[in-house]
Amino acid sequence: MSDSPAETGGSNGSADGQNDGPWYRDGLSFRCTGCGNCCTGGPGFVWVDDAEIAAIAEYLDKPVGEIRLMYCRPVRNRVSLNEYANGDCIFFDPQQRNCTIYPVRPIQCRTWPFWRSNIATEADWQSVARDCPGAGVGDFFPLEEIEVRAAEREM
Ligand code: SF4
Ligand code: SF4
Repeated sequence: MSDSPAETGGSNGSADGQNDGPWYRDGLSFRCTGCGNCCTGGPGFVWVDDAEIAAIAEYLDKPVGEIRLMYCRPVRNRVSLNEYANGDCIFFDPQQRNCTIYPVRPIQCRTWPFWRSNIATEADWQSVARDCPGAGVGDFFPLEEIEVRAAEREM
């Protein structure tokens, strides 16, 4: 999980310090191509809270305790989804190249690529686009929608 939706770090803040709004005030484009880059690759973290774990358990029709034990790991004071040795997310299907819990995927995954750390500067966004072919193309997202997504969870 080298890039998104797995968190690997980055800067914070979205405004450019001017009165007329952040650099992305005219909106951004994004449409997932389904390449799977964001769910695979180098090590990373997909943070989940109790509600997200419960939603995954219900979706998979498994006990919450089993989801915690088999699919999650404690990291410092938080909980992340597990990943395979190759860095693929535990819920990534390498044959179909898709997410096996897509309807209940964590907020971190649902709000990608509009994380604060990804839109802090135009250079950050361009860096994201190098690994995520959907960033910068496809559907138009106005400023208001970008801000809603970015605020869902500080990433
Ligand atoms: S296009 Fe971007 S969001 Fe979609 S799977 Fe690829 S890296 Fe992930
Ligand atoms: S939960 Fe799904 S969308 Fe999120 S990193 Fe894992 S496979 Fe990808």
